[in-house]
Amino acid sequence: MVNPDLLEILRCPACVREKEGLLKLYQDSWLICEDCGRKYPIVEDIPVMLISEGDKWQSVADEGLPMPPPRPE
Ligand SMILES: [Zn+2]
Repeated sequence: MVNPDLLEILRCPACVREKEGLLKLYQDSWLICEDCGRKYPIVEDIPVMLISEGDKWQSVADEGLPMPPPRPE
């Protein structure tokens, strides 16, 4: 599990300057931005908050996300 206090403060790095960038937790494995739809993988309980990672999964439907998320290269 990701630390809930951490989840509380995390925001989408691509949106946070202009919008809220609120993230929803999906199946304990992904964080999905409610503004832009970028998806950030949680790898070994650590959210990978890189815009380049978010971009990679932006156009993938929630149900199409791999479980568990692959480790970023
Ligand atoms: Zn976003």
